[in-house]
Amino acid sequence: MLARRTISLIAFFIVISILSYALLQQLAERKTAEKEVLKTNVLSLSEARRVKITVVIDNNPSSVNSELQSVWGLSLYVEVDGVKLLFDTGPSPEVLEHNMRALNISLHDLNYVFISHEHHDHVGGLEYVARMCNEVKVIVPMHMSEQVKAYIRSLGLELIEVREATVIDGILASTGEMPSIVYEQALMINVKGKGLIVLVGCSHPGIVNIVKKARDVSGCRVFGVIGGFHLVGASDDYVRKIAEDLKALDLAFVMPIHCTGERAREIFKEELGEAYKDGHVGVEVILSDANFMIREAKRSPCFFLGSIGVNYVFTTPSP
Ligand SMILES: [Zn+2]
Ligand SMILES: [Zn+2]
Repeated sequence: MLARRTISLIAFFIVISILSYALLQQLAERKTAEKEVLKTNVLSLSEARRVKITVVIDNNPSSVNSELQSVWGLSLYVEVDGVKLLFDTGPSPEVLEHNMRALNISLHDLNYVFISHEHHDHVGGLEYVARMCNEVKVIVPMHMSEQVKAYIRSLGLELIEVREATVIDGILASTGEMPSIVYEQALMINVKGKGLIVLVGCSHPGIVNIVKKARDVSGCRVFGVIGGFHLVGASDDYVRKIAEDLKALDLAFVMPIHCTGERAREIFKEELGEAYKDGHVGVEVILSDANFMIREAKRSPCFFLGSIGVNYVFTTPSP
């Protein structure tokens, strides 16, 4: 009787052990699968050695370069290692042409135009781009309206339509389109030794949502953000909440321009301290492992040599 009970107990423990082992195995397999899903969702964005971003069009005027026109809209010229890109094009071909000439920037060897969203103050200058170079590829949100896509094609420009987060040319990436009153995408560049730089158009889907998405899809720390934050007319409390959320994301620089609004810029300045950087037409942001410089763009011998194809190196200026 006792022996039978002992055998039953042993059998019971063996069954429990086998079941527990199987369960643990299953949990471990599920964890590995989850890790793989996460891995495949993160973009493999190569590190850029040097980035220069020039504010070509912005409604915030320059106090040092009276040559530059300041109109409602946004356009940023970006050089990343060997790649040249125009982020949005402002409201008109005339303003784009005028400011490009004033800044001594030639578009003849431009590789890409990145369109954040279809609003006129961002796509209005495309005609000038088409006149200067017809080899260029225009990266747009996939759900941009067919009418605007047809307009871009009618200029003889090739479209690249983006839906999900996508790497372009190894060192540039789109966050993928995000829905709002229109579909909008942001541009990401991963600078060696610094982290992610995010360029935004109007931030219709919300600046905090865009920065968080950029961080999540790239797996990188966001170092800085530049562009329109769409806060004209927003209440002080709302702007302070956005500033708090950006602070929590630990950004090293925040340059709110275009549709951010004067009052919102004042609040960001108060709330973000050192991280807040004043931006306007004609400002340049230069980033590399060793450098982080914000200065007024000007026609210099270095710039001239660069524009005719002679390599030059930026160094940190003495304070
Ligand atoms: Zn805008
Ligand atoms: Zn807009």
